[in-house]
Amino acid sequence: MSATFPVLNPATEEIIEHVPNATSQEWNQALDAVVAAGSQWAALNARQRSNVLLALSEALETQVEEYAELIHREMAKPLAEARAEALSAVDTLRWYSEEAVRLPGRYAEAPNGGAHFIITRRPIGPVLAITPWNFPLSLGVRKIAPALAAGCPVLIKPAQETPLTMIRFGELLREVCGDQGLELCPVTVVSTTHDAELSQELMNDPRLAKVSFTGSTNVGKILVKQSGERLLRTSMELGGNAPLVIHQDADLDKAVQGAFLLKTRNGGQVCVAANRILVHEAIAEAFTEKLVDLMSAAPACALITEAQRNRVADLVNQAVAAGAELHCGGNIPEGPGYFYPTTVLSDVPETSSILHEEIFGPVAVIQTFSTLDEGVAMANDSEFGLAAYGYSENLRNAQFLADNLNAGMIAINGAVVFDNATPFGGIKQSGFGREGGFEGIEEYLNTRLARWQQ
Ligand code: NAD
Repeated sequence: MSATFPVLNPATEEIIEHVPNATSQEWNQALDAVVAAGSQWAALNARQRSNVLLALSEALETQVEEYAELIHREMAKPLAEARAEALSAVDTLRWYSEEAVRLPGRYAEAPNGGAHFIITRRPIGPVLAITPWNFPLSLGVRKIAPALAAGCPVLIKPAQETPLTMIRFGELLREVCGDQGLELCPVTVVSTTHDAELSQELMNDPRLAKVSFTGSTNVGKILVKQSGERLLRTSMELGGNAPLVIHQDADLDKAVQGAFLLKTRNGGQVCVAANRILVHEAIAEAFTEKLVDLMSAAPACALITEAQRNRVADLVNQAVAAGAELHCGGNIPEGPGYFYPTTVLSDVPETSSILHEEIFGPVAVIQTFSTLDEGVAMANDSEFGLAAYGYSENLRNAQFLADNLNAGMIAINGAVVFDNATPFGGIKQSGFGREGGFEGIEEYLNTRLARWQQ
């Protein structure tokens, strides 16, 4: 039996369970299994793959409460949000069961005659998926579902903070595959604390075709460098520094609700959380007052680890020491649990790290602008470009925001950029590649030309 490592509940600091801490030998065996299952999986027709995904979606749907409870325990996100995450994974699986039978191809006559072209999409091959801890189920499923729909097997390594949900999902997958008459399961879950060694070694294995990573920009850069050795295909869903621009003609209550949601959902530990709230100076006082009312009444949020909680506290303390105004929160409550209070800051000096780093905590940072041009310029002044939000009830200004905010995903008058039907992903240092929609499946396909001479 391999060594194990403990998984903690961040709200209580209690150990929930110990899970296997895979070694090199074990993740290589896992890759063997994935490769073996992969040929069987790729040989299925699209309808058969679709049927497995649909059966998986239906099986998960019957267990949403158990998954919600597990996510709630290992990640400490509120139960209602954990339930929403599980339901979103059910929907992802259903969506890709539908997409699996719609892989497009193309036929054409050669423009100069003498040949026919048949252009098809083929599965890229075995995939290494690496996921973070903030959505332990849905972020993995957003890789597994399109990969399987495309015909690719997956070795997935969940974050060491939250491996339990994905390990359980791997068991469900095996059961469903068995029920569907498959001898081998095309997905293997590997839990390990040796993440750097695993990626280095597997990415050098000639059988691996693709790495799909969700996580921090720093780790993404390491993986992109490693992938260059074999020119591996990669998808990089990385960090963000999302701006939320609220113009003076916004519906103030709607904008406050949006800001509140973007700062408290998952304790602010979301890649598309609003990192910088940019408010027109004419409404900044009223906006701040309303947001402080909501934030100061909200419960403290459990963050994933003590180190992460202390990092958020340091960012706030540095900003306050440099002259920022603290409206509420800012003090670490008594334990147990890695809690941090909902906090609002304004007048933050431009040099403060909190304006430039991903906060990943329930801290709202308010800045002001005087013209919409200035607000958009401030919003776009970032090396990241994952999501951006704009609020205005004036059609021309809302259109200006939609056209000029520079990010992979823009939301106007709302706080949601995610839908299984649409491509999710960033530009600049927020990465490349997309999850969701048809674009999500394209990440796992090669385009292939067959030229028939006449
Ligand atoms: P992280 O980069 O530290 O870890 C992510 C995963 O990578 C984990 O499984 C970890 O074990 C693994 N890892 C760490 N170092 C590695 C290495 N050297 N080689 C191989 N694997 C390694 O990120 P995190 O703290 O788990 O997650 C938070 C980050 O994820 C934030 O930056 C957030 O914005 C980002 N994120 C992005 C999206 C998106 O869709 N763009 C979604 C969620 C989270």
